[in-house]
Amino acid sequence: MKITFPHLGDAYIAVRLLCNEMNVDCIVPPLNTMETLERGSRYSPEEICLPFKLMAGNLMEGIENGADTVVMVSSNGPCRLGEYGELLKSVLDKNGYHADWILLDTVQAIGIRELLKRAGLVWGGKKRSKLKLLGALKGVYKVIHSLERMEKEIHFRCGYEIERGRLKAILYKCKKDICHSDSINDALKIIENYSDKVKEIPLDREKNPVKVVLTGEIFSLIEPFGNQYLEDKLMDMGVSFSKRITIGWWIDTTFVQPLKRARMMSKKNGFLNYCIGGYAKDTVEEVIEAKKNHYDGVIQLLPLGCMPEIVVKSIMPDMAEELDIKILTVVFDEMNGEAGYITRIEAFIDMLQRRKQHVLYGY
Ligand code: SF4
Repeated sequence: MKITFPHLGDAYIAVRLLCNEMNVDCIVPPLNTMETLERGSRYSPEEICLPFKLMAGNLMEGIENGADTVVMVSSNGPCRLGEYGELLKSVLDKNGYHADWILLDTVQAIGIRELLKRAGLVWGGKKRSKLKLLGALKGVYKVIHSLERMEKEIHFRCGYEIERGRLKAILYKCKKDICHSDSINDALKIIENYSDKVKEIPLDREKNPVKVVLTGEIFSLIEPFGNQYLEDKLMDMGVSFSKRITIGWWIDTTFVQPLKRARMMSKKNGFLNYCIGGYAKDTVEEVIEAKKNHYDGVIQLLPLGCMPEIVVKSIMPDMAEELDIKILTVVFDEMNGEAGYITRIEAFIDMLQRRKQHVLYGY
């Protein structure tokens, strides 16, 4: 069995390490490019959201490169991700891309037993020590969280950097080295080493950079191609930023502590009191948190055709007014021109900078 999977940010780094550890053959599709999107779009329903088109492109490339089994996560809705698995299979089958499918649905949707049973299929029924699998999962979990901790620190420190670009270079070098590492332990050592380097980069603590929160649809937040490398651009501009939704956060809220999340989701916030699918309610709550934590602004990211985030977009003007916080909504689709999108981000950051100066110094 040779597995493949669709891209979601750095998830491929962790999946490759896990498969190496468990001796499972795994074909990592090439990273997302315009070509991936064009291929996926050719075969996808026109109105479907952007992640579907990219995932279709990834899986075609994975199957072409020799994979015979697709492994992907799903959700029980109500947004479209709940149907992605079945629809993707049907689209790929019809176009000659045949593979076996293992859908890893949420605990709420299929229960823990069924989830473990399906996860077991990934190891192809080979008898492997459960202890080894548990150790590998624990190790990969640690890799994901350590890398995200470092990334978070870099995103915050970028606004205070004296020589712009050094932190970003460290991040890229670290990810590149992990991609070439053969074991979980090596990957953890690499991250530790680069985390030390991050602390050595000189900062100007007197600076008062613009601070923003990135929020919105999960795929656009995690997959750099899905947001046209927005994080890189913010780092280049010297903006301090943070985002809550990451792969580690998703694993925690979906598999590790699903009940805690369900409790949080049942709380009302006054703007969007019920879960309407995707991470819409999280987006609303992050705007409220951003205001409480004195951020200068919020950037909401969503792909064209995303149902839950469109609803949030319509609530944003009221939130901006009531909470007195600036919000920019950026919608990505396959027609996006990079220049137009960069201009909007730059104009937003520039406006936040001027607003800050006006509030602090009166000019
Ligand atoms: S959250 Fe939006 S973009 Fe993501 S799968 Fe659901 S509808 Fe599509």
